Amino acid sequence: MRLVRLIANLGYGSRKQVAAMFREGRITDPDGEVLYADDKVEHAQLRVDGEPLDPPAGLVLALHKPVGFTCSTRDPGRIVYDLLPPRFRLRSPVLSTVGRLDRDTSGLLLMTDDGGLLHRIISPRSQLAKVYEAELAEPLRGDEAALFASGSLMLESEKTPLAPAGLEVLAPRRARLSLTEGRYHQVRRMFAAVGNHVEALHRVRIGGLAVDGLAAGEWRALGAADLQRLF
Ligand code: URA
Repeated sequence: MRLVRLIANLGYGSRKQVAAMFREGRITDPDGEVLYADDKVEHAQLRVDGEPLDPPAGLVLALHKPVGFTCSTRDPGRIVYDLLPPRFRLRSPVLSTVGRLDRDTSGLLLMTDDGGLLHRIISPRSQLAKVYEAELAEPLRGDEAALFASGSLMLESEKTPLAPAGLEVLAPRRARLSLTEGRYHQVRRMFAAVGNHVEALHRVRIGGLAVDGLAAGEWRALGAADLQRLF
């Protein structure tokens, strides 16, 4: 029954449901040979409906989050887990979002069950750039880049100044902003602090990993080469 527990823990179903999947011949080896629940088979040799089994731990997904979805598991509205196969919500250890994007923000969102990796990505100490493109209500004034880079900008109700951030002006009302920390609504509050308003926000990149290649709502599992590109 080791295999039933393994597959159930990955969220493919309850133990009873997974036992039924074995009986239905849905669990096979890579050649399509039907496996039995008490077979001794390596994780890498298991297929469910012909697809390789998710990794038992260390799963990392990249999702292109569309506007209108929240990163919470409890929100009564649409949540990012709705964009993934149901098993990703049920697996143990749980798959968490790496930081959060607001409901109205689109772009690259990583999800993982690896707590160490999650911490490494979000910790300001890692200096990993999170890069956003913002559409603004007002034309840029011209002094924002210096102010954001200064390391002295204070946001309302915060006790410490923001770490230096890079601003690139793309158009009079469009900018690319590179942050190494992730405070609550940080980009929107930074532009509010300079008298502007973010009308649309999109995260284009985390470290060396870009959202290009994924359409809104699409996701993919990351491999070792992606993670190397990330850091
Ligand atoms: N900053 C924001 O204001 N919102 C986000 O979703 C991400 C960064």
